[in-house]
Amino acid sequence: MLRTLLAPNPSPMTLDGTRTFLVGHGCPAVIDPGPDDPRHLQAILDALAGARPAAILLTHSHPDHGALAATLSQRTGSPVTQGDAETDAGAIRAIATPGHTPDHVCFLWLDTLFVGDLFMGEGDTTLVAPPEGDLRAYLGSLERVRELAPRVLYPAHGPPITDPLQAVGRYRRHREERVQQVRDAMRRTRSSDPAVLVRSVYGPHLHPGLRSAAEGSVRAILDYLR
Ligand SMILES: [Zn+2]
Repeated sequence: MLRTLLAPNPSPMTLDGTRTFLVGHGCPAVIDPGPDDPRHLQAILDALAGARPAAILLTHSHPDHGALAATLSQRTGSPVTQGDAETDAGAIRAIATPGHTPDHVCFLWLDTLFVGDLFMGEGDTTLVAPPEGDLRAYLGSLERVRELAPRVLYPAHGPPITDPLQAVGRYRRHREERVQQVRDAMRRTRSSDPAVLVRSVYGPHLHPGLRSAAEGSVRAILDYLR
């Protein structure tokens, strides 16, 4: 009852690409239709095989998740929403999980949680950077996932996470360590300039494509410490 379609948009920030999920068959929900790419639109329409989705669900409004939503809505007549949906495979409930963005939600279906960008399928971190990102809200959302105690997490980027509680612990620890590293770097460099702190925390070998994300992450930590 669950199908995964991988969009052709790999990058350092999206890993192997954005995953679009179809829950149900006759009356499915489409979760995160993905980037505005005609090949991906065709792949979704082929998978739907004429079925009209009950809803097109968005975890958040970033273009690699939602740019295709309006076109898919036009083509299928289905509404775009961040709310609940009822499919032929059961109900899907929206859970507010701000932090990566203020509007971020996860979708709970049976014991499966679709987590958008709250988790990534690899590693132990996701982007939390101002102006959209809020570290305090993000840590609260990790707690919310722990309370829900799902059996499996489906991130939009990377493979499923089969041990959610361990992942919550790992993500929380990673962020607490980063907060401590930024504190130490501020003491060492006597600076609160994000560019200076990034060099001090991440070292000279940071992938150039990740530098602005790292600076954003440090800025979120500076906000959090204030
Ligand atoms: Zn995002």
